[in-house]
Amino acid sequence: MKETILAKYGEIALKGLNKSTFEDILIKNIKRRLKNIGKFKISKMQSTLYITPDDEISEKNINLALSKLTKVFGIGALQRCLVLPKDFDEIVKQGMPYLKESLSKAKTFKVEAKRSDKAFPMNSPMIQRELGGEILSAYPHLKVDVHNPDITVLLEIRDVAAYLNAERLIGAKGMPVGSAGRSLLLLSGGIDSPVAGYMMAKRGLIVDALHFVSPPYTSDRARLKVEQLAQRLTNYCNAVRFYCVPFTKIQEEIRFNCPDEFFTIIMRRLMMEIANRICEKDEYGAIITGESVGQVASQTLGALQCTNEVARFPVFRPVIGMDKDEIVDISRKIDTYEISIQPYEDCCTVFTPKHPKTKPILADILKAEGKFDFEPLIDQAVEETEVKMFYIED
Ligand code: ATP
Ligand code: MG
Repeated sequence: MKETILAKYGEIALKGLNKSTFEDILIKNIKRRLKNIGKFKISKMQSTLYITPDDEISEKNINLALSKLTKVFGIGALQRCLVLPKDFDEIVKQGMPYLKESLSKAKTFKVEAKRSDKAFPMNSPMIQRELGGEILSAYPHLKVDVHNPDITVLLEIRDVAAYLNAERLIGAKGMPVGSAGRSLLLLSGGIDSPVAGYMMAKRGLIVDALHFVSPPYTSDRARLKVEQLAQRLTNYCNAVRFYCVPFTKIQEEIRFNCPDEFFTIIMRRLMMEIANRICEKDEYGAIITGESVGQVASQTLGALQCTNEVARFPVFRPVIGMDKDEIVDISRKIDTYEISIQPYEDCCTVFTPKHPKTKPILADILKAEGKFDFEPLIDQAVEETEVKMFYIED
């Protein structure tokens, strides 16, 4: 019995002449993801990737591979299939026992046939009818339901062989990570920013993370929590480079020199400036944040304008229009939620004013900020930034 996994493209399918560039990045990402599980042969044909496990790979590891593959951006759907000769009798003979496990637990089914090899003597409706009939006589407890079946049996007659399966997994969709450039995520310990990183990795961006710490006001444990988030993001983002910026002095000087009500805005502007510098130094093309309109005082339109004014790169805020419940749903899906809700302090909550300005005027902020020369401190923070790599876990 020979099995393979067919990975159907998501949005890559819409690409024209440059499709192979995207396919090659996707293949590289898949190889990296499966490296620790075992040997898989990967080839591309007819806008599909064939991911074929070596004979000695165990059932458990094939399932593990499948679950890893559901987290690879660029894949629209996954089908674990039996590879068959293009002969209908043989398809029935070998296919019936193969489908046993899936069909036994179903009550209703339908057959979906796709024939890309037009030389095959039966057309798709014929295949559906005939194979449906065979299934009904082999599994008499089943009924056909073309609208809402428990199981859809898929048979594809492709160029080199026929492929049969009864389960289709939804892929992560999106574009392969690395196909759209490099971005820097402002990663806090909260719920929103890991989700924002995931969403932009889905568009094909490499997502590295920048985190601000303010010891002794923020603890080692708080930093460790954010490192765990960076590690968790590798499930979708491949590798994540983690920058940790010492932010204590800057925060202390803002507190000492600027009006209390402007504290948060000025702090966020300086965070943005440090992000600019790292982008320029290490060639990132965009900054990502987990901001959402109106969620907190620093995310009103006025506050966002004041922060945005500093940015020299496009700032992507993919959760800007989402409400908290929607963001939480995604964070549960990507397994960051349980880490995010651990109760540790973030530098954003250090020195937070009682009455932050919700409608700041840029001119006032610039004037307040101008009273102190933050430049040497910014340079020093960038210089003392620590870098650490996180790679996909087994
Ligand atoms: P989150 O849930 O992502 O922490 P939040 O709702 O708590 O977001 P803020 O604390 O105002 O919002 O932060 C807004 C955004 O600023 C975050 O989504 C993140 O992108 C960035 N940010 C906040 N704190 C830090 C930090 N310590 N290091 C890096 N980025 C941060
Ligand atoms: Mg936060």
